[in-house]
Amino acid sequence: MKRYKILLVAFAFLGTSHLAISQLLQNKNQFTRQDTLRGSITPERVWWDLVRYDLDVKVEPEKKFISGSNTVTYKVLESQQVMQIDLQEPMKITRVLGNNKELSVIKEGNAHFITLEKEQNAGAKNSIQIFFEGNPRQAKNAPWDGGFSWKKDRNGNHFIATSNQGLGASVWWPCKDHMYDEPETGMTIAITIPQGLTAVANGRLTDESSKDDGTKTFVWLVENPINNYGVNINIGDYANFSEVYEGEKGVLDMNYYVLKDNLEKAKEHFKDAPKMMKAFEHWFGPYPFYEDSFKLVEVPYLGMEHQSSVTYGNQYMNGYLGSDLSGSGWGMKFDFIIIHESGHEWFANNITNKDIADMWIHESFTAYSESLFLDYHYGKNAASEYVIGTRRSIRNDRPLIGDYDVNHEGSGDMYYKGANLLHTLRTITNDDKKWREILRGLNSEFYHQTVTTAQIENYIADKMGLDLKPVFDQYLRNVRIPVLEYAMVKKKMHYRWTNVIDGFEMPIQILIDGKSKWITPSTKIQKLRLPSKESEFDTVEDFYVEYKKSGKLN
Ligand SMILES: [Zn+2]
Repeated sequence: MKRYKILLVAFAFLGTSHLAISQLLQNKNQFTRQDTLRGSITPERVWWDLVRYDLDVKVEPEKKFISGSNTVTYKVLESQQVMQIDLQEPMKITRVLGNNKELSVIKEGNAHFITLEKEQNAGAKNSIQIFFEGNPRQAKNAPWDGGFSWKKDRNGNHFIATSNQGLGASVWWPCKDHMYDEPETGMTIAITIPQGLTAVANGRLTDESSKDDGTKTFVWLVENPINNYGVNINIGDYANFSEVYEGEKGVLDMNYYVLKDNLEKAKEHFKDAPKMMKAFEHWFGPYPFYEDSFKLVEVPYLGMEHQSSVTYGNQYMNGYLGSDLSGSGWGMKFDFIIIHESGHEWFANNITNKDIADMWIHESFTAYSESLFLDYHYGKNAASEYVIGTRRSIRNDRPLIGDYDVNHEGSGDMYYKGANLLHTLRTITNDDKKWREILRGLNSEFYHQTVTTAQIENYIADKMGLDLKPVFDQYLRNVRIPVLEYAMVKKKMHYRWTNVIDGFEMPIQILIDGKSKWITPSTKIQKLRLPSKESEFDTVEDFYVEYKKSGKLN
């Protein structure tokens, strides 16, 4: 998600570039101890491995109040006694139980250090139950500035949703709020709400029960590992419809929860969902969560990649709220939120970054998935025009990779600069069958895992059989775009890369008199023999590079 924020920032940036740059420079050294507690694998996190969450939460819309407990089951990796659990103010942990005994908790900002009853033995599986309550932070501009959205539908019914990417799940429930660890056997999410409304979370609905006090509890079961920010609850006056999809891994039930008034509109508009599944299973391999079904759930904000319950608020329009981000026309052929947020099931939910600094793994591949959706349904030319069109939003302001261990994201260029990097790599591969194998291979090699950027970079380089280190360093860790500088000198073309990091080398296809020619420029001048003195040079736009014609190279 996050696309809209980027546009806003982009516009703000034009007006206040000096301010933005000085803030950026300051940010370099402005991380706090709280950022480190949130963003690093602290000694109080590293010794235990998440096995399961059982989250039980009561939502009281009139009071905008939530309360409940989370039972955290974990495996002991090293013998330790103090465990870090995160919950952000103004939410409160009221007590923690381990073996039915109350445990001591020392709070440091959002981090809570819980002293367990006794030294934990390596290999043991234990659990603690954390009780919490409070009026959670309200989302100011969901999903970018997240928290709880307490809205009403046009009939006056409560319409409530959570969103917390970046901010962290600990904005509303207590958890190990770091991306590197996921509960390997999944979780349950039990939601108690006033009767008359429906609560939808991740996974499958396994139980519904009403109580005499006017409340109803919905229990949702997630069988697969899930990232923290993917966990969500949505409450509304929902209607439900479903379809069966014959996918690569068998039968997949696709379920749709929409406001009752929108049911007929949704039945027509959500035809993009099976089209999405078809395209992405082709390019990326089987949908990664058959056990948990696939859902689209209408929410009162734009949308988010919540695992197996992708949230939707694109107003039943094609494009991004009715506009084409690429300017090519192709962006109006699909509903941006259905395609983009679902693309994250493969890149973000299946393959998840260990550190949010590597969030390009989520957004670059998913932004690129928009063009692969077009490729599958409208052909390669459409895909190419779309991804090239999105270059207009690239700012080259700062690197795609952020700072590690402090919960810091890289530049918003992780969307379309990243997508264009991938499109460039596909063009270099010059073999779509192989390229598809790489994309599918990533999803099977790193199935249900959290990864580092090095793992992804090395996998692609290995499969492409190229040293791509300079290419990834250039595009992910630097803001300069390579310039192919060339000069036509008699019957020769002189050429080299400029505006690049030391040792940059990347193959590129050019056209000489309209004919394809592959060269591998470096920062040193090289020469290519031309058919004639009048030979003409032309570019292949699929490469995200720039060109400069010079009289002579020095
Ligand atoms: Zn996204």
